[in-house]
Amino acid sequence: MDLLLSLEMIAKYPFTKAAKEYVSSLRIDVESLGSPEFSRIYERAKFRVEEALEKGGRSYEIGDARAIMDRDLEVELLSFPLALFMVAALDDDFASRRFGLAEAIRAETLLSNERPEVIEALATEELGLDLKKVKKRLDKDYELAIHFTDYLKEASKFNAKEWKLVNRYLENGYVYITQRELARLMRSSIERYVLARIKAIGNVRPPEYMQEFIKEQKDKLLARKYKIEKLASGISPDSWPPCMKALHQSLTKGESLSHFANFALASFLLNVGMSVDDVVSVYANRSDFDERVARYQIEHIAGMKGSRTKYTTPSCGTMQTHGLCIEQGRLCGGVKNPLSYVRRFGRFKPKATNS
Ligand code: SF4
Repeated sequence: MDLLLSLEMIAKYPFTKAAKEYVSSLRIDVESLGSPEFSRIYERAKFRVEEALEKGGRSYEIGDARAIMDRDLEVELLSFPLALFMVAALDDDFASRRFGLAEAIRAETLLSNERPEVIEALATEELGLDLKKVKKRLDKDYELAIHFTDYLKEASKFNAKEWKLVNRYLENGYVYITQRELARLMRSSIERYVLARIKAIGNVRPPEYMQEFIKEQKDKLLARKYKIEKLASGISPDSWPPCMKALHQSLTKGESLSHFANFALASFLLNVGMSVDDVVSVYANRSDFDERVARYQIEHIAGMKGSRTKYTTPSCGTMQTHGLCIEQGRLCGGVKNPLSYVRRFGRFKPKATNS
């Protein structure tokens, strides 16, 4: 536990109990942080919020998260609860999710380069993961193993094959993992923690010194929403089959979909004649949305990149195999493909071009 008590540790990992206690012991309220002597804390908090909203944590991912930390560790630490307050003041679900993700990515990149005993202490003492030290040479050297129930809680949401339990080394109920993999598993728990902290703050009115910044961020969020709504104004899910409506609804709420579900929805939307821009706009509510990546993937499905094959929508049978068919097709009159549903029950207007 002592390992996690240094100022360096709590500044790096402000989600720990020690960090929270340290901040409370300083008895500095949000109002006071507007004083000139705290301007660095305010500037750093603004950076954290802007980094999240504009880049979704990419600066932490591609840069060195340690280098982005403020050299003054107290500034670094105190900027976290202040940034949480600012996000709560924005009162916007997308902003909260985006901030949660960015902070979790920040922590993940720091954890990946951490001493094994520190990451182990954080995983067990702070996040309650059932972890044990091992020494095993398999396809690579493993020094950690996690109980399979904790492993599955997070890894079952990942798409990549290497996370599937059947592709892992499992012994006596424990899955062998590398430190980097453990950091990835911890990212999701940290993200949930950050979201819960924002929710606990609730509706707050920003103090005077913060109001201009909050207004600027709200305007940007509003402009973004307007852009998405404008792009998506031609989308009418009324004529879509229940499976595609359900996937679209999940995305609108900002939930993440499996790789296959994303592919199924994107190929469906393109095949009913939506433009690449419109399909990109459908994905813009995801907290990890990156327009460049989304556009590339959608253009690939549309046959504008890579093999130049325009992919068709998976059949109802394949949708069922992936658990995405609704009520076993009872509402769909025996169609064999979601596109047939639109042809039969809706207005289907195929387009001559992909964009
Ligand atoms: S039957 Fe086909 S179109 Fe209908 S919900 Fe199932 S997968 Fe979708």
